[in-house]
Amino acid sequence: MSLQQVTVLGATGSIGLSTLDVLARHPESYQVHALTGHSRIELLAELCVRHRPVCAVVGVSEQADWLQARLQRDGLATRVLWGAQALCEVAADPRSDTVMAAIVGAAGLEPTLAAVMAGKRVLLANKEALVMGGALFMQAVREHDALLLPIDSEHNAIFQCMPPTTHAGLARAGVRRILLTASGGPFRDWPLEQLATVTPEQACAHPNWSMGRKISVDSATMMNKGLELIEACWLFDATPDQVEVLVHPQSVIHSLVDYVDGSVLAQLGNPDMRTPIAHALAWPERIDSGVSPLDLLAVSRLDFRAPDPERFPCLDLARQAMHAGGTACAVLNAANEVAVEAFLQQRIGFVEIAELNAAVLNSLPAEPVTDLHQVLDADRRSRQSARDWLGRHH
Ligand code: NDP
Ligand code: MG
Repeated sequence: MSLQQVTVLGATGSIGLSTLDVLARHPESYQVHALTGHSRIELLAELCVRHRPVCAVVGVSEQADWLQARLQRDGLATRVLWGAQALCEVAADPRSDTVMAAIVGAAGLEPTLAAVMAGKRVLLANKEALVMGGALFMQAVREHDALLLPIDSEHNAIFQCMPPTTHAGLARAGVRRILLTASGGPFRDWPLEQLATVTPEQACAHPNWSMGRKISVDSATMMNKGLELIEACWLFDATPDQVEVLVHPQSVIHSLVDYVDGSVLAQLGNPDMRTPIAHALAWPERIDSGVSPLDLLAVSRLDFRAPDPERFPCLDLARQAMHAGGTACAVLNAANEVAVEAFLQQRIGFVEIAELNAAVLNSLPAEPVTDLHQVLDADRRSRQSARDWLGRHH
C-alpha cells in the first residue's frame, strides 16, 4: 500500500503537534507532505528537520528566507513558501491526500476551503471555518466530493455514534437529539461575582485538556460550546433545537446520540486529542494513538448538569446566531476573536467578552450568504464594530 501524504496546516499548534505525534507512530502508513506555522518559526524548523516535508509555509517573506537558509544548512530539500495564498496552494496540492485543518480562527477559513475544493480528506479541527461559512462550506464538501472528518472531540464522538445514513436527515436515521458534553471550564464552580477578576492565566488553565490559548478562553466562557453547537448543526444537518448541551465535568464522555427507540450511544475516552486525530486519520480503520486505556474504576463516577445561562451567556448567543442564519455566525465568531484577543492582552475583563459579543451580534443584522466575499465582509465589519466597542469602553 502506498503511503498516505498528509499536510498539517497549523503544525506548530496544540492540534498540529498531536497530529505529528500520531503520524510518527505509523511511518509505514503516513508521510508528512507539508507543514505550516505562523509565529513559532524555530519550532517549525525543528518539525521540518524531524518530518522532512516537501514544503513548509510561513506568514511573511523574512521568516521564509530565514527558514529556507536554516533548512538548507541542515541538508533538507524542503521548499519554503509564505503568505495566505501559499497556504491555499499547499492545502490544494495534488500530491497530498489528507489535510489536517488546525489553524486557529478565521485565518483558517480559506486554506481549509481550498482543501475541500480540491476534494481532499479533510480533518477539521478549525471549527471557526465551519462556523463562519457553514452553508458554503458544506455545499463545497458535497460538490467537490471531499471527505470531511471531525477532529473536535465532541463531533468526532457524535460521528462515531451516528449511523452511516444521516444524509437522509436525522429523523430518518432515527436520531432524536444530539447531546453535546462540556467540561464547564475552569470557572464552572466559581462564585459569579468573582468572574470579573479572572486573569488570562487562570482562563488558559483548563482542568482537563491542554489546548491553545484562544480555545482555552473559549472553553472558559463556553463560547467554545456555542461554536460547537453551530459546528454540530452543519456537520450533522441538525437544527439548534436538536442539539442539547450537558455539563459533564470529568470530560470522559465526549458526546452522545439519543435515538427514538430509547438507545443512547456515547463515546468515552481519556481527554487526549490524539484519539479523535487517530480515528479520523485511519477511518474506517483503527490505529494506535498512543493514548493510555481508559480506567473507569479510577474515573469511578460520571456527573451531568445543565449549563447555567447566567454564568455562560455566550452559549445562548450562539443559539441566537444559528437561528438568525446568514452572516450572523460569522459576525459572532469575528467579534469573539477580537474579544478574546483583547482579554488575553488584559484590555478587557473576562465578563466583558460576552458583553462585547452580544453588542456586536445585536448591532449587525444578519444578511443572506451566497458567496465567500459576503462571509469575509461580515467578518471584517464585525471586527470593526468590535474595535469600536473597545474604543468606547476603554
Ligand atoms: P494553537 O494556538 O495551539 O495553534 C494554532 C495554529 O495556527 C498554530 O500552528 C499557529 O501558528 C497557526 N496560526 C495562528 N494564526 C495564524 C494565521 N493568521 N495564519 C496562519 N496560521 C496561523 O491552537 P489549537 O491547536 O489549540 O487549535 C487549533 C484549532 O483546532 C482551533 O480552531 C481550535 O478551536 C481547534 N480545536 C483545538 C482543540 C485542542 O485541544 N487544542 C480541540 C478541538 C478543536 P504559530 O503557533 O506558529 O503561531
Ligand atoms: Mg471540543
